[in-house]
This record gives sequence, C-alpha cells and structure tokens, in this order.
Amino acid sequence: MTAPDQDRIPHAGTPFTDSDEAIAAALEEVSIPTLMCSLVHMTGDPSWIRGEFKPAGLFLNEYQGFMDEDLKARARAAAVPVIAAYRDAGCVPAPQPSAELVHEMMRYLACGDVADDVVPLFLEEMGLDGSDAGAIDWSDNVGAEAKADFPVVVIGCGQSGLLAGIRLLEAGIPFTVIEKNGGPGGTWWENRYPGARVDVGSHFYCYSFEPADHWTEYFSQQPELQQYFENVMHKYGVDRHCRFNTEVVSAEFDESVGRWSVVVRDAEGDEETLEARAVISAVGSLNRPKIPDFPGMDDFAGPSFHSARWDRSVDYNAKKVVMIGAGATGFQIAPTIAPDVEQLTILQRTAQWMFPNPNYHRVVPEGDKWAMRHLPFYGRWFRFLSFWPGAGLSMENSRIDPEYDDSDGLAISAANKSTGEFFLSLIAEQIGDDPELLEACTPKYPATGKRTLQDNGSWLAALKRDNVSLVRLGIDRIVENGVVTEDGTLHEADIIVYATGFRHNDYLWPMRIVGRDGHVLNEYWGEEPSALLGITVPEFPNLFCMYGPGTNLAHGGSLIFHSECQINYIMDGIRQILEREATSVEPKQAVHDAYRGRLQAEIGQMVWSHWAVTNSHYKNSDGVIYTLSPWPIPTYWEMTKHFDADDYVWT
Ligand code: NAP
Repeated sequence: MTAPDQDRIPHAGTPFTDSDEAIAAALEEVSIPTLMCSLVHMTGDPSWIRGEFKPAGLFLNEYQGFMDEDLKARARAAAVPVIAAYRDAGCVPAPQPSAELVHEMMRYLACGDVADDVVPLFLEEMGLDGSDAGAIDWSDNVGAEAKADFPVVVIGCGQSGLLAGIRLLEAGIPFTVIEKNGGPGGTWWENRYPGARVDVGSHFYCYSFEPADHWTEYFSQQPELQQYFENVMHKYGVDRHCRFNTEVVSAEFDESVGRWSVVVRDAEGDEETLEARAVISAVGSLNRPKIPDFPGMDDFAGPSFHSARWDRSVDYNAKKVVMIGAGATGFQIAPTIAPDVEQLTILQRTAQWMFPNPNYHRVVPEGDKWAMRHLPFYGRWFRFLSFWPGAGLSMENSRIDPEYDDSDGLAISAANKSTGEFFLSLIAEQIGDDPELLEACTPKYPATGKRTLQDNGSWLAALKRDNVSLVRLGIDRIVENGVVTEDGTLHEADIIVYATGFRHNDYLWPMRIVGRDGHVLNEYWGEEPSALLGITVPEFPNLFCMYGPGTNLAHGGSLIFHSECQINYIMDGIRQILEREATSVEPKQAVHDAYRGRLQAEIGQMVWSHWAVTNSHYKNSDGVIYTLSPWPIPTYWEMTKHFDADDYVWT
C-alpha cells in the first residue's frame, strides 16, 4: 500500500495496489449505493447512478438502500474491473463532477428530492472540493497586535471546546482551554460506564473537516470516541493551550476595561485569575450528574455511583446490581453487564420509545474500511448517507396537530400515532410472548416524546434473561442491603448504579458568571435559560456559549454539526469585534427577547412539550422546555452563518 500523497485532494482516498480478488472481497462489505457515487468520481461517468443500480428506499442507518442481493451482486461485478483499471491508472479520480451532477448524486442516495436550498449545507458539510468551510481565513483584516490583545478563555475541552481551540488557533487568537477533567473528550471522557457508545452514526459524529476512516464500529464505543478527540487535539496542537484538572470557579466582567476575570482552581486547590477579552463556554449541558435524594441512601453498605462516575475498581461480576433509572444511559448499561452479574434489577420509572437500528452494535467490516480509505469520496458520501435521513430538515413529524384528539395522551397527530404503532409492533415482535413484560415496556406517552433509543434487540433480549428483572415501581427507600420499592419489596443489591441523568436545565452551573451590573447568570436565568441562537446573552458581554440553552437536539443532526454552526458564528463575532476595535458586544435585549419568543412559540408546539410527556429532563419544573432546539437543521445553519452586527450593542 502506498503512503498518502499530501498533494491529493482530501477525501480522494489514498492510492492502492490491492489485487482484483482483494477488491472483489472488499466490495462484499461496502454500501453499494455509496460505491456507485464513488464510481462516478472515479470515472466521471454518471451512468453508475442513472442505470439499474438504484437504491429502493431510504431509512436511517440502512446503508444498502434496501437493494436486493441480486442487484448488489451485479453492481459489484460491474465495479471490480473499473476499480482495477482505476488502480492501474494510478488512482487518479476524474475531474470533480459538476454542481448539477453532485445534486443528482444527493437525490440518488436520498431516493427523492433534495431541495435546492439545502444543497449548499450538504456541500459545505461534505467538502467534496477538499475545503474546510469553517476554517478561519481573516487575511489581513485584523492586525497581529489586535489579536494578541484578545486573549480568550474556553471553558471545557469536550467536542465543542476542542473545536473552539482549533478555530482560535487558525485565527491566531491567544487562548487557554480550562478543563476540569484529566483529558479531552468531555462526555466521552466522563461516561466510562460499560456499554457507553454514541447513538449518532460515527462517520457523521465527527468533525466535518476531520473525518475518520478508522471507526471499528458504526456506532463507536466510548474509548474510541475519547481517543478520536485526543488525537484531534494533538494533531491541531490544541493541547499546548489546555489546562487539565483545572476548574473554572467564577468569571466576572469588568465593564470599564471590557475584560473578564476568570478564576480557575487546580487539582491542588490553588486558585489563579486569568484575564480574557472573551469567554467561550463549551461546558456541555448533560454534564453534571443528577442523583435524586432517595431516603436512606447513606445507609447502603456497598458501592454506589452515578453512571457518569462509574467506579471501574468495583467488580460487578457475579454480583447483585440494582440500577435505578433506565433512559439512554441505563439502556446501554443493562445489556452490557447482564451476562456477567448474578442479578440485575432495573428500576425504570417510565418505559422508553425505541427506533429500529440493526447496525447499532455492528462492527465496520474491513471491506467498508478499505473503501473509506481508498475509494474516492466514498467516505464523504457515506457521511451524507448517515446524515441525510436524520437531518432534521423539517419539524412536521414532531409538531402537535391541534385538530388531533390527544385526550388519551398516546399520540400528537395521526402520523405520530402510526409511528408509535410501528415502534410497538417491533417491541411486540421481540417480547410478545410475555404479556406482562410487553405491558411494562409499552410507553404511555407519544412516540419520540423523549429521547428515542436505538433498538437492535439488545435491550429487550437483556430483559428476557432469567437474571434480569424490570421493576416499574416507585422507590420507597434505600437500605443497607438494597432498595425497597413502594410495594415493600426489598431488591437486594451488592452495588447500586444511579443511571438517573443530568442537571440539563442548569446551564453553566455551578460556575458563578457575573456580567454587567452585577448580574449573576444562574440567578438571571433561573429555570428559564435563554440565549440568542443559544449563543449570546444580554447583560453578559463577550460571553459566547456552545451547546447553550435551546440548542440540544431531539429531532436530527448531531451536536458536532451544531457546534460547527456555533463556532462559525462566534468566530465571525470575534472578527467583527477586532475589526471595529470594539471593547465588547452583547445582543440587543429586544432582539434576544423576540428570538426567545419565537423559540418558545415553536417548541411549545412540539411533541417534547406535550402534556403527556412527564418526567422529561428536557422540561423545567414548570414543564416548559428551554433546552431543545425547535429549528430544522438547515434553519439553524442559516441563522448562524453570519454574526449579524445589527442584532448587537457594540461598545
Ligand atoms: P435520562 O434520560 O434523564 O434518564 C434518567 C433515568 O433515571 C430515567 O429512567 C428516569 O426516569 C430515571 N429517574 C430520574 N429520576 C428518578 C427518580 N427520582 N426516581 C426514579 N427514577 C428516576 O438520563 P440518561 O439516561 O443519562 O440520558 C440523558 C441524556 O444523555 C440523553 O437524553 C442523551 O441526550 C444523552 N445520552 C446519550 C447517549 C448516546 O448518545 N449514546 C447515551 C447516554 C446518554 P423517567 O424516565 O421516568 O424520568
């Protein structure tokens, strides 16, 4: 195999010398529709997508487009000699396809229309021309001195803080990333519980400009994800700007000089104050564990811990484990530990909706990895295929139909009722022979009303095991040797796991952020956190949030995609501060309030806000949602493309 050629356009694949037989073997394991797009790049011949080799339909995580086996075999047979010829000619792709042809390739994979106005988003996302649309190029507009006098503190080194670091480096802005953990990765550093894995396809859940052809699973597990962020950090040199094991205690804005004083505390407890012209909060919002205050918790004699603080020194093999809570996290833990424990008791308050995904635990076969490495733009089109069906192009499936009779609390529209029936049929297929379990696993609220989990059969298979019991009763108290439910039953435990979620509504908690006129952010927000585009807050100049209020995603896309939107906007804002030689910038109150009004009006019409969706971590204690984005993904992309100076007060 030849070494990568630095002059090759990124994503064109590295040249190869593999035999025809090896190529044919690899093609047994690739996505055929994606291969057809790559063949267009190889040959310049659009007939690969115009002939018989068409996907029959589209479904999230269905990489073969429902093509039948015979058609796939014919496509492979046709492709092998062409790929061999490409190899023999030195692996030089044809000139880039025209914009019209690229659009046609999108329609081919999407099995339908791809509206003109969303094409630019996907073109930017895929970077087929090898460009990184978000890369910072301020040319000579901003002088070196001005940049040097604009130190930035980034709080957090998860995916968004790391991204901020990359863009600040490109811009030549001095910055420090403060990270409370011992390394990068944020949620992927902290959540080391057994079975932790991403539930957005890995080939999409990575930076657009830093794709990975190496994922070992289509939905990678925590160690591989953490390693990815670690690698990216080193590759871009962000590590030289990071302070790990250091926590931000407070940040206070001094209006007279337009600077933030950021107090940080290291692992030894020593405090230091950093001066910054701007603060980028990249702290995540599913970060601070929430453990309900169950009576008697301190009486438990064995080890107990929150899922995000999993104690690896505790051996759960052949032990009795009680797991309290089973949302997205518990759903991953249970199938992973069930074969090894003596007894697993799952105390689940609310049944969860699940979405079918047979690829959820699937290893990426060598052939598919080979194609991602070597076939031109195969990886890019695979990314499109992973993104498009879950791209959240519209909110209509999530919208409550005011005409629909929702008095039973089970659906918000006729379409939502059908979705629920489809999901239920899949549950019934797996556990229909056990009516009691089926009843316990049947959600009593509209489908997709909470985070919808990935069903590859592992959860329900775990529940069917003899050593696993699902208990749908409230907790009365915790005692020395277990958990007592409200019916008086003692569920014995050697270990208690709290998979009880996070303080999702407490943005930037517990830091003390003090803006203009002494406003303290947590008090200012109370239980109604809000920011213009989820990024900027009136009264808090030069504070920029990533993954801020109203930006969590329950309908599509990925948080990494959202972070790329947010950092584009933030960097445009910083550029304008420097170009205008402004001291500070904050959103106009009226602009912010109008945005918040629009957001609330929208989110209030969505399934997550429905009255029948109770105990949702998306809601605050009044049942109102300030956490989620109500915007179709292209709308948010468009809204964050430019930092609109007219929306801001400049000082
Ligand atoms: P969660 O979805 O909030 O689930 C918490 C669980 O604890 C629920 O079963 C909840 O019951 C239960 N619970 C909370 N308070 C309780 C109480 N007082 N008594 C009894 N049960 C109680 O938290 P999570 O599972 O950690 O997931 C949080 C978010 O993290 C997800 O929505 C997702 O965004 C993210 N996440 C993602 C992944 C992934 O990408 N693979 C994996 C894990 C988490 P109720 O349902 O009745 O409230």
